[in-house]
Amino acid sequence: MVTMVDQEDSMTRLHCYVHVPFCRSRCPYCDFFLVTRQDLQERFFSALNKETAERLAAVHGSTIHSVHFGGGTPSLVPASFLENWLVTLSRHVSLSGDAEVTIEANPEDLTTEKLHDFASLGVNRLSIGVQSFMSEKLLALGRVHTAAETLQVTGEAMDLFGNVSVDLICGAEGETMDAWERDLRTAFSCGVPHISIYMLTLEKRTRLESFVKRGIVTLPDEQAQAAMYARACELLETEGFEHYEVSNFSKPGFFSRYNLGCWCRESYLGFGPSAHSFRITGGQEIRSVNVSSLMRYMASPRETQESNEMLSEEAQINEKIFLSLRLSSGLKLDDLRHYHEDSSEVLETVEQFRAQGLLEIRDGVIKVSRKGFLFADKVAEELMPMRKVGSSQ
Ligand code: SF4
Repeated sequence: MVTMVDQEDSMTRLHCYVHVPFCRSRCPYCDFFLVTRQDLQERFFSALNKETAERLAAVHGSTIHSVHFGGGTPSLVPASFLENWLVTLSRHVSLSGDAEVTIEANPEDLTTEKLHDFASLGVNRLSIGVQSFMSEKLLALGRVHTAAETLQVTGEAMDLFGNVSVDLICGAEGETMDAWERDLRTAFSCGVPHISIYMLTLEKRTRLESFVKRGIVTLPDEQAQAAMYARACELLETEGFEHYEVSNFSKPGFFSRYNLGCWCRESYLGFGPSAHSFRITGGQEIRSVNVSSLMRYMASPRETQESNEMLSEEAQINEKIFLSLRLSSGLKLDDLRHYHEDSSEVLETVEQFRAQGLLEIRDGVIKVSRKGFLFADKVAEELMPMRKVGSSQ
């Protein structure tokens, strides 16, 4: 018998995310949910398998199009833990023939043995938290890996996987445009087909925020950061990368299927503490979030969801506008008109952004310009018919 859940799921692609909440130490700028107690790894994976079995039973027989191990630092844990989780997954669902299986990894974890372990699990994409290929900058960021180590593992990962992404941060203390260009050119020389660029931002209650407040650290100002981002866009384009999302650039065919799926509002199930899920089921769209406490998560792995939000029509429209404008595929002008009862005002706003060089309209599609990518979220807010609406269940 086909249930309503199955029927709805067949209309949208399904992805899985696993939040592995362990790191060696907390980097000064990071506010992600994580712990540094490695003695909890085994208990965590036991709970993760219980949560996964319970929730996948509801979509039994579905096909999964991508699996993304994120965190935290998934490369820190033994590959056998990830293998057991994949076995749990395979009891309920199957992976599509071309499924992308990604692990986020830190350079200091990537021994030759570990790289081979991941490959033998069926991992076919590696996302390396390089952040920089420069020793001084890594030190300024408080990272524990070295520049030489990073270059070496990126090369080795490319030889083994071919499908490798590197994260680079721009705007570290003392970083000049020259140094930033050198970082980018080093990434190009490794031949990686995907690069994510993040600007160093001050998150609340991080050590970096306190260093900056106390004058211990001075970061490049917003203008300098924007100039670095713009230069990165130019260089990446020259190297044949497509700027497909605000922070993401890929060679043809090497975009992140998992991330693109989330931005295109395909269904995804997030497992592990603090993981988010999005489901289209029974004609409704539901976003849910798991508990952000490892202890509570491990104590009740079958009741991990802390909040469930059924999206109202307005909230769905706002999401569509917000997410579409972050992507190079953009937003159809007709859709935007349709979202507004009286579209004359929003079309005026679009014209204003176009005059400022932040938006472009081509073939009936609105896209943010290279200059506008940095302001995509602010532009999107101005085009929404209502602000952040939703109803709770
Ligand atoms: S390794 Fe990544 S997730 Fe872990 S603390 Fe550093 S930035 Fe955060």
